[in-house]
Amino acid sequence: DETVYALARVHAERTPDRVAVRSAQGDLTYRELLAQADAFACDLAGHGVTAGQRVAVWLPSRPETVIALLACSRNGYVCCPSLHRDHTVGDIVGLLKRMRAVAVVAETGYGADADRNDLLARLPDIETVRHVYRLEKGIAGGQPGIVPASSDTMTPPAPQNANRILYLAFTSGTTGEPKGVMHSDNTLLANARALSGDWNIDDQSVVYSLSPLSHNLGFGAMIMALAVGGQLVIHDLPRGASLVDRLIDTGATFLVGVPTHAIDLLAEVKARNLSGIGKLQGFRISGASAPQEMVADLLRYGIIPQSGYGMTETCSHQYTLPNDDPKLIVESCGKSCPGYEIRIFDREDQNREVAAREIGQIGGRGASLMLGYFNDQMATEDSFNRDGWFMTGDLGWVDENGYLRITGRKKDVIIRGGHNIYPAKIEALASTHNAIKRVAAVPVPDQRLGERVCLAVMFQPGKAAGAEDILQHLDEAGLSKYDMPEYFLQIDEIPLTASGKMRKRDLVDWIAEGRA
Ligand code: ATP
Ligand code: MG
Repeated sequence: DETVYALARVHAERTPDRVAVRSAQGDLTYRELLAQADAFACDLAGHGVTAGQRVAVWLPSRPETVIALLACSRNGYVCCPSLHRDHTVGDIVGLLKRMRAVAVVAETGYGADADRNDLLARLPDIETVRHVYRLEKGIAGGQPGIVPASSDTMTPPAPQNANRILYLAFTSGTTGEPKGVMHSDNTLLANARALSGDWNIDDQSVVYSLSPLSHNLGFGAMIMALAVGGQLVIHDLPRGASLVDRLIDTGATFLVGVPTHAIDLLAEVKARNLSGIGKLQGFRISGASAPQEMVADLLRYGIIPQSGYGMTETCSHQYTLPNDDPKLIVESCGKSCPGYEIRIFDREDQNREVAAREIGQIGGRGASLMLGYFNDQMATEDSFNRDGWFMTGDLGWVDENGYLRITGRKKDVIIRGGHNIYPAKIEALASTHNAIKRVAAVPVPDQRLGERVCLAVMFQPGKAAGAEDILQHLDEAGLSKYDMPEYFLQIDEIPLTASGKMRKRDLVDWIAEGRA
């Protein structure tokens, strides 16, 4: 068993001058990164922080998140970096109380209501908080860091148990209140190793995450880059700047993001008539399924898409693809990563396994599974079946060769007169229409049928299509007449969560309020 810190230290000894983190704030070599982590860890200890206590991080993506994580791994603290852009000061105060944070690293003026509220003024309300590290916005000049990397107060690192909680992550909150998920050095590294092994990610790789470090997906990419001694590029582009140029400049070899990111990237590549994006070879698209056209486009530009399936509870991804069969990339999320197993269970009876090709709830088991939900023994127990399989809440089926297909969430099924309709399927087919940029299928309450399907459509700039045209397209694409949307809603922007997922609850509310 090894900690993330111990592993990074090995890289710092072997390749001290290799750049570990690149960012708008400046770069950090492995040697500098470790020195910063040591300094921050010792400063926390100096403020009386003890093993098991929570250090909260509320930052846009910047290198200090990496520093904080390593410092926590070094001293046995718990790092909670999943406070994000869309949170208000009120949300943050609630989360800090919930996790009983003892130290907070925050950027001045960050957050959804920063113009009206200042977190730093509210912190004295929270009795557990002992110390606040305040970082200035933007490029500070000099090196990224939380405290100066001086050597006089340093104590040597003590060995840590790699099985205790290191990372406290909040889920995206797509289906309800975000849940606090606990991970250890062991679960994080198990996941990082499984994923990097499958994709030949090594110390020469440049990993660029479009997902923020506050989200599990970006965080997972960060751990993966550190674990192999590679380079992490932090995505922090000014508005209007070109992502393609940044990818070329940084020599990014591997990209991580959600389908929305791929759509935006492809739009730029097409508009500029490029044939590839520098050294970029792979794109792990997670969080939602990747439509067929997107996969085909990426392959055309020499970028192998990998459709990853995962969730906060299981670390970033559990499924990965062989990169030799593009057809499977569209249809499936691939097979389990080494060290992780998947089984499908009956929707009503979670203790009963179903046969191959039958749709059911996806269960998982393996080394990257969470330790449990934070301070919620009940929720933890409820999420496992009798035999210890973690119940993901997602629906899918597995073929004879072990390839998984996701059909949707257990909670994201529209039930029209007793017939189950999977929004994911409608969305995948509708998004192949050439006038459509993004779509979301959501339920509309109906007195007689319970629910009917409404398709919310966001068109490509300058394009549009009528309902008849979209219906015809869906019909030609093979959607059954029982699954056809009955309402259409044209919207300018599909509301997204901070991690880039569609916030369907908002759409449902808009429709209910008659705003649509
Ligand atoms: P919450 O648990 O708070 O409702 P969330 O489940 O969206 O939010 P995350 O842990 O960030 O929070 O997301 C994991 C979920 O994302 C999975 O359970 C699954 O529903 C969805 N997902 C992830 N990858 C894929 C994929 N490749 N295809 C389809 N859905 C996916
Ligand atoms: Mg979830």
